[in-house]
Amino acid sequence: MLLVVDDQPAIRQLLFEALGNGEHEVVLASNGYEAINIVRNQKPDLILLDLKMPGLSGLETLREINKFSPGIPVILITAYGELSDPEEAERMGVRCVVIKPFDLNKMRDVVRKVLEGFRFDFRD
Ligand SMILES: [Mg+2]
Repeated sequence: MLLVVDDQPAIRQLLFEALGNGEHEVVLASNGYEAINIVRNQKPDLILLDLKMPGLSGLETLREINKFSPGIPVILITAYGELSDPEEAERMGVRCVVIKPFDLNKMRDVVRKVLEGFRFDFRD
């Protein structure tokens, strides 16, 4: 199961359509609290996580999830390309950072690679 967490409905819908074409089950969450509740009940194979969200940020959400379910691979999605602590993000499972706006074919490719265990080097 892929968990998509983003506060923007258009992004959630886009990723649902791009990734949920029979190959994966895709579950959507519009904020960090929803995402945490979903992970408590059903462990995703991968989380696509927006960094900037009202309420809990992507990294705050990930800190909570790591307390009870560490090690889930994460693709972090950001409009800015700014990540204050990439080492912490990596420790919490972030395997790749994708900058908005993203290309859907590239995103499908990144999802496939991360599910295969690939780690992208996003620290620079
Ligand atoms: Mg956002």
